[in-house]
Amino acid sequence: MTLFACAALVIAAGCYVLFPLFRDSKGAPDLDLPDETEADRLLDRKTIIYRNLKDLDFEHAMGRLSDADYRQLQADYKNDAALLLQKLDQLGASEDLDNAIEKSIAARKAAPSAPKTERKSFLCPSCGAEIVPGKKYCADCGKRL
Ligand SMILES: [Zn+2]
Repeated sequence: MTLFACAALVIAAGCYVLFPLFRDSKGAPDLDLPDETEADRLLDRKTIIYRNLKDLDFEHAMGRLSDADYRQLQADYKNDAALLLQKLDQLGASEDLDNAIEKSIAARKAAPSAPKTERKSFLCPSCGAEIVPGKKYCADCGKRL
């Protein structure tokens, strides 16, 4: 009977410890990720192909790849890249991306000018000392603002 109780206790403890692991793994996909577009997928693949080409150059330079294999693989990757770029051009993705980047840069350039004008210093109505905005009490006279 004691053995059974111990076994039940061990199982219960095990479930208690392990339960969050399974619950978390189920809960994770609830993240609000933006939907991946066709252009995103193509851009991802483009990045992978470019990386593969770099790796290929490296492997060849290290002497781990024969000249024939290198040329064959390089031609394959370049072919893939050309097809991808063609598809991207058809989608107009590269232009959209450029426009999006330009817009985001313009927005960021325009943004900082606004908060700077708001950063004015205030004066204490009681003693006239300068007050850091957001403070509740005057640093000079201690009066509540
Ligand atoms: Zn004051």
